[in-house]
Amino acid sequence: MTQEPYDVVAVGAGFAGLFLIHRLRALGLRVRVLEAGDDVGGTWYWNRYPGARCDVESFEYSFSFDEALQQEWTWSERYAAQPEILRYIQHVADRFDLRRDIAFGLRVTDAVFDLPANRWTVTADDGQQFTARFFIMASGCLSNAKVPDVPGLADFKGQWFHTGHWPREGVDFSGKRVGVVGTGSTGIQAIPVVAGQAAHLHVFQRTANYSIPLRNGPVTPAFEDEFKRDYAGLREQARHCPSGVARFPNPQRGALEMTEAERLASYEERWRFGGISFARAFNDTVMKQDANDLMRQFLVPRMLACVEDPSTRAKLTPTYAVGTKRLCGDTGYFETYNRDNVALVDIQQAPITAVTPTGIQTHDAHYPLDVIIFATGFDAITGPLLAVNMRVEDGSQGGVDLHSLWRDGPRAYLGLMVAGLPNLFTVTGPGSPSVLSNVVVSVEQHVEWIGNCLAAMRARGFDRIEAEPEAQQAWARHVDELARRSLMPDANSWYMGANIPGKPRMFMPYMGGVGVYRRQCEAVAAAGYTGFVLSQVERSTV
Ligand code: NAP
Repeated sequence: MTQEPYDVVAVGAGFAGLFLIHRLRALGLRVRVLEAGDDVGGTWYWNRYPGARCDVESFEYSFSFDEALQQEWTWSERYAAQPEILRYIQHVADRFDLRRDIAFGLRVTDAVFDLPANRWTVTADDGQQFTARFFIMASGCLSNAKVPDVPGLADFKGQWFHTGHWPREGVDFSGKRVGVVGTGSTGIQAIPVVAGQAAHLHVFQRTANYSIPLRNGPVTPAFEDEFKRDYAGLREQARHCPSGVARFPNPQRGALEMTEAERLASYEERWRFGGISFARAFNDTVMKQDANDLMRQFLVPRMLACVEDPSTRAKLTPTYAVGTKRLCGDTGYFETYNRDNVALVDIQQAPITAVTPTGIQTHDAHYPLDVIIFATGFDAITGPLLAVNMRVEDGSQGGVDLHSLWRDGPRAYLGLMVAGLPNLFTVTGPGSPSVLSNVVVSVEQHVEWIGNCLAAMRARGFDRIEAEPEAQQAWARHVDELARRSLMPDANSWYMGANIPGKPRMFMPYMGGVGVYRRQCEAVAAAGYTGFVLSQVERSTV
């Protein structure tokens, strides 16, 4: 069944898809969002695992586009848990009546651009098709959950879950022997909560990680007032600073420029403040090994001081450069290893070889389990884009598809468009600040930019836009150069695609920061969309 033609079809009803509807509606465009889940929320719809919460403060990790919305909503905790964030997103959907432009329960499988017709046809898993002049992937950077390819999993007799597809009804761990595989941001949040419920918990750790206590707590009226008395001003600050986070904005100085006393005072202040802004204590932490070593020397003893058993403490000691994999924020993570019912298994030293019907087998031992939780992350940034078979078809010359274009690594001009795929926009695509920023700020910036671009095209009578290959190449070189000046490419991180076997190794996000990036996007638009080719190929335009 083919649905009526739209101006825009988009994928995903998380923060990005919802704001897209709001923004594009205001421009008078007809938009249809296709969403695999049965409600709004995106990341916060799927990631219902125990302990899930955002490690960016909620007053900042929220929409800024409507003053009344931001004044009326009250967060209960400094770092809200998943149910509250989901309630907030649902509230936004209701308040702006967004659900009527969303088709739920549809997973998009294919998207084909018919070049002569200048139309995308988007196909969902139930066969429904939607056509539109423009197609927007608002599918998130961390939505393609990755279960490791471990032999024997299909024969496991207990229950197993990936944290990114957590069952809505929850999981009862009482009296169960549970194994958690993975100690990234997700595992570190889930482990303390699961430990409190399960009879026994084995944590299977491949890489020891850095984590800063969040020091979460209830929102007091004074705390709320700190944000709300000049919310607009704070948001403006967030939009123009590197991280997209206004409180504790970004450092102007490097650790190596400070005296030891100044440096320690700054680390101490950040440590007491809590959370991942610790990484932003100085501007040279991920740029210079010496600066990184100084942070490490401060952080590791503090972080592990609570761990009583010396051999567990040794296993929990990270060895890579701080901040080159995403810093984690936790609530009682390291303390959890003092519990009698928790054991840490070092799978770097003795890797997992199989899942057996009754547990996990490593090189040197078998661990009997009733439940296995994979907190093993995502095929990040490109995974959700490549999960849709996107291609351009030109009756005479054959076609081109995203998989071929990205065979050697993803490239997208400004992270917004892929040369060769006209009228397709990617929200927080590769080459944009996305996951290195407060992603809601980045999402709003992208959606605004795309909306403004569509409005400008309409005003000027254009109906096709595509990125120039040369502009895309130059942007990709710039993204790459920034990364190479830092320590980031040295880590086996998901930023590099290192967590997915066979994925091209390439640092995907833009390191220049959201403020600089925003200025570049605005300059491109102000100059008439330099690096893009705009044209009129249809007889009449929207
Ligand atoms: P992740 O950071 O990729 O961590 C995955 C963990 O699983 C790592 O410890 C990894 O080990 C391990 N792992 C992966 N494949 C494995 C395998 N085959 N065998 C054994 N271990 C394996 O994923 P995540 O924890 O889900 O977090 C992803 C991102 O989501 C975060 O970095 C963050 O940006 C976001 N997130 C944010 C929050 C928040 O509070 N806002 C919460 C959760 C997630 P290696 O390190 O050795 O690869």
